[in-house]
Amino acid sequence: MFGPLIVKPGKSRNNKTGSWRVGSRPKFLQTNCIDCKMCKLICPEDCIMGSGKNTYYSDDNFCKGCGLCAYICPKKDVEMIKEEK
Ligand code: SF4
Ligand code: SF4
Repeated sequence: MFGPLIVKPGKSRNNKTGSWRVGSRPKFLQTNCIDCKMCKLICPEDCIMGSGKNTYYSDDNFCKGCGLCAYICPKKDVEMIKEEK
């Protein structure tokens, strides 16, 4: 399962709050991606970039580490990794 769900009203790319990330961030492996766009669609921060297979990545300035992208990816092509503070 994934960690605490952090839901904020609306998409907040204009709300730069990288400092309160929950201790992990997604790593996009870019190996089995089928360009389904699920990660992009589910990201509450709208901070996933890329288009086309194996091109997706997250903008760490906006990612909150909620883990939804890793949870939803049907190809398990996104991993949550621990982040050193
Ligand atoms: S963990 Fe994934 S879904 Fe959550 S904010 Fe970061 S990029 Fe978006
Ligand atoms: S959810 Fe996974 S397979 Fe789908 S576009 Fe994102 S990284 Fe690629």
